[in-house]
Amino acid sequence: MRLLLVEDSARLVELLGETVREAGWRLDAVTTIADAEVVLAAREHDLVLLDLGLPDGNGIDLLRTIRREYKDLPVLILTARGSIEERIEGLDAGADDYLVKPFHHKEFLARCRAMLRRSPTALQPVLEAGNLRYDPATTEISCGGVAVALAPRERALIEILMRDAGRVVQKRKLEQTLSEFGEEVSHNALELAVSRLRKKLQPFETGIDLVTVRGVGYMVQGLA
Ligand code: CA
Repeated sequence: MRLLLVEDSARLVELLGETVREAGWRLDAVTTIADAEVVLAAREHDLVLLDLGLPDGNGIDLLRTIRREYKDLPVLILTARGSIEERIEGLDAGADDYLVKPFHHKEFLARCRAMLRRSPTALQPVLEAGNLRYDPATTEISCGGVAVALAPRERALIEILMRDAGRVVQKRKLEQTLSEFGEEVSHNALELAVSRLRKKLQPFETGIDLVTVRGVGYMVQGLA
């Protein structure tokens, strides 16, 4: 799950960045409409979090562009402008929801989850490998109906590995994921993260093996 945050307040970028990563989602953050257009064209996103008062214009203009060019991409407006007229303008311009600052991070996450659930672009199926189940909407991992407690970066790793179950996932790709969680990008960091992941999965009858493919990467393999 990858979100794009368009927001010029450094403080809010930091806070929301933490909240989003804690939820196990990836986040790209930009401060201007121009940068947002570049990032949107370069990469697929599941949800856009949009401030209205931006240094190079009104977020509503970006919203209109998104509606024109990325029809199904859900947009949540985050702004201090709470007047009825502005909410209506935002919704009429194609926003899916509206959150007035200041808001509680728990409400923010609940709104994101709700939008991701009903979004046709983000409607990713639940992943299954062996007895493991990964729900992209909640980022929860479970085994035989029991929740497996993992750190956000470990959840992101197992998600990628489960998405490509039975195939080797390159080290570079996994390291890239770790770096998005502020992890050290050395080979050692990946090995340590995988070893923590193995340890946390060990008490469960997962029905899978997390295999090291020396010099190449790792893979999730069903037990014969
Ligand atoms: Ca602003």
